[in-house]
Amino acid sequence: MPEKLRLGIFKFASCDGCQLSLLNAEEELLELAELVEFAHFPEASSRIDSGPYDLVLIEGSISTPEDLDRIQQIRRQTDTLVTIGACATAGGIQALRNGANHDEFMKLVYPHPEYLQSLATSTPISNHVSVDFELRGCPVDTGQLLQIISDKLHHRKFSVPDHSVCRDCKLQNIVCVSVARGIPCLGPLTQAGCGAICPRFHRGCYGCFGPCHQTNTDGLTDWLIKDGHASAELIPLFLNVNAEAPEFARTGAQLKRQDSAEGESDE
Ligand code: SF4
Ligand code: SF4
Repeated sequence: MPEKLRLGIFKFASCDGCQLSLLNAEEELLELAELVEFAHFPEASSRIDSGPYDLVLIEGSISTPEDLDRIQQIRRQTDTLVTIGACATAGGIQALRNGANHDEFMKLVYPHPEYLQSLATSTPISNHVSVDFELRGCPVDTGQLLQIISDKLHHRKFSVPDHSVCRDCKLQNIVCVSVARGIPCLGPLTQAGCGAICPRFHRGCYGCFGPCHQTNTDGLTDWLIKDGHASAELIPLFLNVNAEAPEFARTGAQLKRQDSAEGESDE
């Protein structure tokens, strides 16, 4: 019998939701256990084996001085490193502190911030070490996560669809929430992977899978504003879990400037 793939799963600043996507696989996990040695997966087992690993999955962003050292050590111990989820690929919701006053944020949240070691920014793993593949989502899709492990097992190139959520709506005959209900939706800009779950339940997409290939953010925001939406209404769609993804960061900043200008002209 061939040797099992040694898998390590590591957590940085995150909510554990992406690791739970793997635990949610349930039946497939039993099959996977025949082929994969879960050498480091503290979310699931107290048995922790040291590296080297064949594949490491990283959840979470770099947000403390300790993280800076730990991610370098992990990178040295693995052949392949894949980041999973919006925290690891784009800094996550905690990246909303980037560009804000970090000390003020700390004081607001913690009674004794002087005991905490925290960086002023939350950054994606790829800012610090080389990453072989980024799997998007908040949380990641269980099927895509299993696909990545299977790709590694079978020596295939990692790949997931990079078309938009909007196209998935069309393929599933989901009525457009923007056109039919006037709800602002980032489906045309957002990478597929969730099965268009929000529009299916009459909600607009807020981009949790991050920008898709070839986005036209200016075209969509111009259209939404002409359709009667205020800049302030659109800002939280761009500045949330993928706020540090460059396309969303640029558009969010642009909308903030527009919103301030609108406020000044109203005075
Ligand atoms: S990407 Fe979302 S689900 Fe995954 S760890 Fe971060 S906050 Fe949790
Ligand atoms: S529709 Fe958009 S916000 Fe909703 S799960 Fe999919 S990518 Fe995330």
